[in-house]
Amino acid sequence: MPNKKKIIVIGSGLGGLAVACRLAAHGHEVKVFEKRDRAGGMADSFEINGFKFDGGPSAVTAPFLLEDIFEVAGKNLADYVELIPVEPLYRVFASPKKHFDLNGNEQDIFNQITHLSPGDAAGFSRYMEDTRQVYKKGFLDLITQNTLRLTDVLNLVPDLVKFPPYLNVYQHISTYVKNDLLRKALVLPTLMSGGSPFNTPSIYALQNYLPLKWGTYHVRGGFDAIIKALLALFAECGGSLWLNSPVSEILSDGAKVNGVRLADGSLYRADCVISDADLAYTYHNLIDEKHRRKYKDSFINNKRFSQSFFVIYFGTRRLYRESGLVHHNILLPDRFQTYLTDIFEQHSLPQEFLLHLQMPALTDESLSPPGCETFRVMASVPNQQSGIDWQKMARPYRDRIFQFLEENYLPDLRTHLVAEHHIDPLYFQNELNNYYGCAFSLQPTLSQTAWLRPHNRSEDFKNLYFVGAGTHPGAGIPAVLASASIVDRMIELSSGL
Ligand SMILES: Cc1cc2nc3c(=O)[nH]c(=O)nc-3n(C[C@H](O)[C@H](O)[C@H](O)COP(=O)(O)OP(=O)(O)OC[C@H]3O[C@@H](n4cnc5c(N)ncnc54)[C@H](O)[C@@H]3O)c2cc1C
Repeated sequence: MPNKKKIIVIGSGLGGLAVACRLAAHGHEVKVFEKRDRAGGMADSFEINGFKFDGGPSAVTAPFLLEDIFEVAGKNLADYVELIPVEPLYRVFASPKKHFDLNGNEQDIFNQITHLSPGDAAGFSRYMEDTRQVYKKGFLDLITQNTLRLTDVLNLVPDLVKFPPYLNVYQHISTYVKNDLLRKALVLPTLMSGGSPFNTPSIYALQNYLPLKWGTYHVRGGFDAIIKALLALFAECGGSLWLNSPVSEILSDGAKVNGVRLADGSLYRADCVISDADLAYTYHNLIDEKHRRKYKDSFINNKRFSQSFFVIYFGTRRLYRESGLVHHNILLPDRFQTYLTDIFEQHSLPQEFLLHLQMPALTDESLSPPGCETFRVMASVPNQQSGIDWQKMARPYRDRIFQFLEENYLPDLRTHLVAEHHIDPLYFQNELNNYYGCAFSLQPTLSQTAWLRPHNRSEDFKNLYFVGAGTHPGAGIPAVLASASIVDRMIELSSGL
């Protein structure tokens, strides 16, 4: 190959594995250093008493971004994992008796709106049409590539004005539909990018189109089947993965980086380094501040950071099939905006809950022992800028969540529990090294979006690159995989291919 490089990837999350596979497939010599004893980052899976749980992501949207990684190596994703469509995408509960299903069938959504709020049917159609137009003209290329021509971008402008930057996602959706439940259902995906719909620019409303157009999928057997597939692909392409190998420093002479030092003191040289570890952590903890021109500690600390999660994984010795719950359920708080203001602006723990409750064995029975039910419930909570002592708070918070679920959705839950585990912001902070224990790195605010988000090629070192949630285009599986494809292309171009 024209210019084979020695490449080091820090971290084996989805972003790190995706870029490592791509570059190894091109023939580069790629080493991945992972601090933990297993790969996958937050996308790991585990088992307790026969119940199988996804630790982090579980819903795959835009699967073509995963397929693309395997195609680069001349392989086929379907030979490694089975993706099962999930319908509805999610059921949004305003209360146990009032819900709205967002699913991949536009006609079905339309029928529900006709019952829920007939006056909003035309507005919803207009919203879908505006979204479709932007996608058709290449929005996906705009976020997944850094090499678009100006004419491509100009072609999008007439439609992008329908998503003005001065409106936030909630205000924007509100220009189309009036019903409170419908508005909330349509702004919820913003949370999975690490932002509040009240402080995220309207362009993020386009996210709704991804699952509506391409569906949402569950990975048979659990999400770690994807991680195992990426690891197999990486090995087939000649890459090497080093577990239990925390990087303690990225070596630099000022303008460039030239390798890494591991915590045990060993040194590894490279032509370029890619960090999948959290971006703020990487600059702050791994690169001496005297070498950083732009990303000084004070510059990083002025950024706005995403929320964190409190997640309980639990199993019951009985089924809950009469509950009216589906695979993905969102349980809304009464005071939606106050809840999000508490988390994102006040950094305080709200009294109410916004819960994402999953019952995945409805789609994949292999996840539960016979006659039993596997659950996962995720609560958005403030990041560690809150100063909350989760060592003390975790147990009472877990009790409050279980009490709420028991009283509203899962009767006698606590008497039927046979498996249980939880994670809180300290897990994200100490185990994954995420700054302030965030689950999604930087918030996608207007000043931290697109060109204004930290670039995939470091602004301080020309051969240091970033993939993952903290860089462009952002958090969530589609964006993280897109960051890997961008960095792959940048390195290939610089290799003279
Ligand atoms: C509970 C939860 C559920 C989610 N559900 C979904 C979903 O259904 N759909 C969706 O699209 N998105 C979802 N997301 C978001 C998505 O999972 C993330 O955006 C994505 O997985 C982040 O991947 P990453 O590569 O950026 O980072 P990570 O997964 O955090 O990987 C970073 C890796 O770097 C390693 N590392 C850190 N420091 C060092 C060091 N010094 N040396 C070596 N290694 C180091 C870490 O150990 C880790 O393995 C969810 C997130 C969470 C937390």
